[in-house]
Amino acid sequence: MPPQSSMANTDILIPATTLQDVVNRIFLASGCAPTEALRIASHLLGANLAGHDSHGVVRVPRYVEWQEAGFVLAGQQASIISDMGAMVLLDGHFGFGQTVAKQATDLAIERALANGSCIMGLRNAGHIGRVGDYAEMAIAAGLISIHFVNVAGSVLVAPFGGTERRFSTAPFCVGVPLPEGPVLLDFATSFVAEGKVLVASTGGKALPEGALIEPDGRLSTDPHTLYGPYESVGPRNPSLGAGAIRAFGDHKGSGLAMMCELLAGALAGGGTSGPIGARGRISNGMLSIHLSPTHFGDRASFEATARDYVAWVKGCAPASTDAPVLVPGEPEAARRADRLARGVPLPAETWANIAATAHRLGVLVPNDL
Ligand code: NAD
Repeated sequence: MPPQSSMANTDILIPATTLQDVVNRIFLASGCAPTEALRIASHLLGANLAGHDSHGVVRVPRYVEWQEAGFVLAGQQASIISDMGAMVLLDGHFGFGQTVAKQATDLAIERALANGSCIMGLRNAGHIGRVGDYAEMAIAAGLISIHFVNVAGSVLVAPFGGTERRFSTAPFCVGVPLPEGPVLLDFATSFVAEGKVLVASTGGKALPEGALIEPDGRLSTDPHTLYGPYESVGPRNPSLGAGAIRAFGDHKGSGLAMMCELLAGALAGGGTSGPIGARGRISNGMLSIHLSPTHFGDRASFEATARDYVAWVKGCAPASTDAPVLVPGEPEAARRADRLARGVPLPAETWANIAATAHRLGVLVPNDL
C-alpha cells in the first residue's frame, strides 16, 4: 500500500534521528532529566512517524511554555490513589503525560498479564500526546486495550446540534494485537484533533470542510475560528477564538465524546472539559481497560477468527481503484516505514517555531537541513 503523500511544497524533510535529538536537547535544557527528555522526544517523534503531525514536534513550543508557566511539571511520579487489584486509580500530579501515562500503563499491563484484566484510571496527567502510543505498549505485551481520554479544562468542541464549546477533543482508542499485525483504532472524537488546527495554522495541511463552526452556525475551515488573531510565528491560544471544532459523526461522535468526558473525566476524577473558570491549566484523564486474550479464552481460536475476518474486510472491493480498503493502524504503519526511510516532513513555520524555542533555551539546531 503506498503511503499517501503528505509533503507540501514549503515542507522541509528532517531525518528522524536529527529531529529526536533536537527535541531531546530542548527538554534537557528546559529542566527535564535525561530519561524524561528522551521519552518526550521519542513520543513526539513517534507521532510524526505515525503521520499524526498534530501530536508530534509541532507541540514542542507549547510544552515548553506550559513547563515554564508551571502548568506541567518535570520529574513527577504517578501515584496510586486507590487499589483494588483489578482496578487501580492513579494521579499524575500534572507531570509530563509522556512520563506519568507511561508509568500508569506499565502498571496496568503488569496487572493484566498477572490477572487477565485491569481497569486503570489516571487523572491529572499533562498532555499524554498520541493515545495510540499507550495501546502499542499493550500490544507489545500481547494485550487488548481500550482507552477513553478527556482533556480537563479544555473546552473546544461543539456538541451535535450546538455552536458553543462543551467537549474537549476527547480521544478514543482500541488496540488489538494479532500475529499478522495489530489493529489499532485511535482518533479524537472531534471532527479534527486540535493539533490539526494548529498544524493548519502554521502552514501545514488544510482543514477538511465542516471542521469548525462559527457562533452564528456557519461552517469554517479557517484556524482563526478557533484561535482568533495570531502572528505567523508564535503561540496559538484556543481560548481566543469565538468558534468551535465540531464533533465527528453527528450524534454518534458527539455521544462518544460525552462518554469520554464522563469516564475519563468525571469517573477518573481529574474533571471534565467544563464548565471552567480561569484554570489556565489543562490535563488529560484516561480510563483504560486492559484485557489478555490468553486469560479470556482460547487465544489461538480468537487469532484465527480475527485473522480471517481482517483479511475478508481488506478484501472488500474498493470504491476507488487507487485506494484499497485498509484496517485501522495500517495507514500509520505505512507512514512510519516511509518517514523512517525518507525523513519527517515539517512545514517551514513549524521548524522555525521549534528553532526559536531551542535558541531561547541556548540549544543549537542544525542549520544545514
Ligand atoms: P484520524 O482522524 O487521522 O484517525 C486516525 C484513525 O483512523 C487511526 O486509527 C487510523 O488507523 C484510522 N484510519 C485512517 N485512515 C484510514 C483508512 N483509510 N482506513 C481505515 N482506517 C483508517 O485521527 P485524529 O482524530 O486526527 O487523531 C490524531 C491523534 O490525536 C490520535 O493519535 C489521538 O490519540 C490524538 N489526540 C490526543 C488528544 C490528547 O488529549 N492527548 C486529544 C485528541 C487527539
